[in-house]
Amino acid sequence: MNILQGKNILIMGVANKRSIAWGIAQSLHAAGARLLFTYQGERLKKNVEELVASLQADDEPILISCDVTSDEDIEQAFRQIKERVGVLHGIAHCIAFAPTEELEGRFSATSRSGFAIAHDISAYSLVAVMRAAEGLMAEGGSVVTLTYLGGERVMPNYNVMGIAKAALESCVRYLAADMGKSSIRVNAISAGPIRTLAAKGIRNFNEMTKHVADKAALGRMIDQSEVGDTALFLFSHLSRGITGEVIHVDAGYSIMGN
Ligand code: NAP
Repeated sequence: MNILQGKNILIMGVANKRSIAWGIAQSLHAAGARLLFTYQGERLKKNVEELVASLQADDEPILISCDVTSDEDIEQAFRQIKERVGVLHGIAHCIAFAPTEELEGRFSATSRSGFAIAHDISAYSLVAVMRAAEGLMAEGGSVVTLTYLGGERVMPNYNVMGIAKAALESCVRYLAADMGKSSIRVNAISAGPIRTLAAKGIRNFNEMTKHVADKAALGRMIDQSEVGDTALFLFSHLSRGITGEVIHVDAGYSIMGN
């Protein structure tokens, strides 16, 4: 089912094959989308190049370096995207970071700089990216970001990242209201825990996954492909009436009482 045929969609945040962004890329590629990728710096370039080559897409792969802490980087990335494809129909924003030392111990010990970094990379980056992208989304489109239940509830060791995810979810609503008149929709997927590079930074992550698998309504964890397929829905016309929402893809963990 090529429901994304003719759509140019930017994927931000592939680090390796475990990345949720890669799960999204696979689902969108299978639905016929033309994909563009940004990665953070030269360190990840080879990794991302190899992964993207494995998709065997008809079009030449488009990979652009973009560190979202730099406005200049974001502007040059979208300049290049404009030159290469002219119009953008979607963005998957799969980026978050907090210093590892902030992801354990007491939340009240959060440093000023740790708080600022977590919010800059994990929440403000969506605002900066959408501002740069708006002109390219002239035919309207869909933007999807990734959040976690720790933005709604207190989760052990998630600490400042939970506050940043709460800010991100609020950004989704404000951006959806701001950009709705341009037919640009903005939604978040709240994914259950998945073992990725970013998840490794959270203390006792493995114990948390066992707890989730025990308690979730479906009695299991989720994987990248399930997030990818929900993103596919959010990028397609099937979700054309949905904006400003947070959709949980967590095997029903968040509906349970304990
Ligand atoms: P991941 O593979 O490590 O992806 C995180 C990505 O963010 C990496 O590509 C990373 O690049 C990038 N990034 C960090 N700082 C950046 C910057 N300044 N500029 C550009 N890119 C930057 O881990 P993931 O779990 O798939 O994370 C993707 C998203 O899903 C995050 O928003 C995360 O919070 C969210 N999420 C994850 C889970 C989970 O359990 N894994 C659950 C719910 C939501 P580098 O590797 O170079 O830092």
